[in-house]
Amino acid sequence: MKPSSHRPTTAHIFLEHLSYNLEKITQDLPRGTKRFAVVKADAYGHGAVEVARELSAVIDGYCVSNMDEALELRQSGIEHPILVLGVVPWDCIPIAKQMNISLTIASLAWWKGAQQEKHEISGVAFHIKVDTGMGRLGFQSSQEIKQLLQELTAEGAVFEGIYTHFATADQEDDCQFQRQLSRFTAVLSELEQLPPMIHASNSAATLWHNDAIFTMVRLGNALYGLNPSGAELPLPYPLKPVLSLESELVHVKTVVPGECIGYGATYCCQETEVIGTLPIGYADGLTRSLQGYSVIVDGHFCEIVGRVSMDQVTIRLPKEYPLGTKVTLIGRNGGLEASVQRWAEYAGTIHYEVLCLLSTRINRHYH
Ligand SMILES: *Cc1c(COP(=O)(O)O)cnc(C)c1O
Repeated sequence: MKPSSHRPTTAHIFLEHLSYNLEKITQDLPRGTKRFAVVKADAYGHGAVEVARELSAVIDGYCVSNMDEALELRQSGIEHPILVLGVVPWDCIPIAKQMNISLTIASLAWWKGAQQEKHEISGVAFHIKVDTGMGRLGFQSSQEIKQLLQELTAEGAVFEGIYTHFATADQEDDCQFQRQLSRFTAVLSELEQLPPMIHASNSAATLWHNDAIFTMVRLGNALYGLNPSGAELPLPYPLKPVLSLESELVHVKTVVPGECIGYGATYCCQETEVIGTLPIGYADGLTRSLQGYSVIVDGHFCEIVGRVSMDQVTIRLPKEYPLGTKVTLIGRNGGLEASVQRWAEYAGTIHYEVLCLLSTRINRHYH
């Protein structure tokens, strides 16, 4: 889908906030720690190519979730190291080699499959994923890793990295975190050779657990200026949100008591009210659960009344405003702030999901 650039609904992306956030988050890391930006899912809705380009002078590499995301970066001219965090189909191995993209090995079964398919493994760089308690992907025993390493070396593949992923780095209670950390260090201590890149930290672990920094960190969410814990833990310093979302009033009317608004006629005006319409709806990621949420017009919170439609939403205004008046859905307006976190809480989800759901129909404007 092409972005709708002839519609006054725009996500503004302030690219310079990325390097500000990066410097803040990594200012206390040991010298030489490699910094990788996680740009999966179109850089959490911010635009992977634009984010990668912006950071290219200050970042050591990128993490993505699948091969297509890696290829998108390569095809846009990015030459930095790229690590695919997910499991790729075996037939991606030749492209990975050709395009110099590092792959994750998460099980012996995957490795055996790769050998059986007789793809050219020599020269391909791999990171071994260790499942220390997240329970999604990875080796659970160092025995299996040792077996893999023997075969990997024999095939001429490159043992570039080993990593794990924390399930609770963003929570106050660090019991599970410590359990995962000690499992990871135990696995590392049982291996005869260690690769150059050893990594465990996502944004939350980088912010709140500097005991778990090895030789590299994988930064997602915090780079985009969000608090990875939602509201559970305070940020050690303020970060700058990279994205704001704005629309405009395209229709304004005064409605008499008893008239209803939207599908299902779920909202009927009690008194004479001013209703404004915005060109954004659930097809843009403004989910139907946001009925009753409020956005900002001229320094006033204005409630979304009636159901959210596919392409439009209606709000109750304090007075008549001219067409074209700015409406802030994410960001600041007249001294008020509508954060992604506030949206997420109202919708019963987390801010990661809110950003990822902002669809490609929304025009992104890069500053
Ligand atoms: C998404 C992801 C990250 C980044 O997580 P943030 O919380 O956004 O920093 C790091 N590592 C892995 C394996 C991931 O899947």
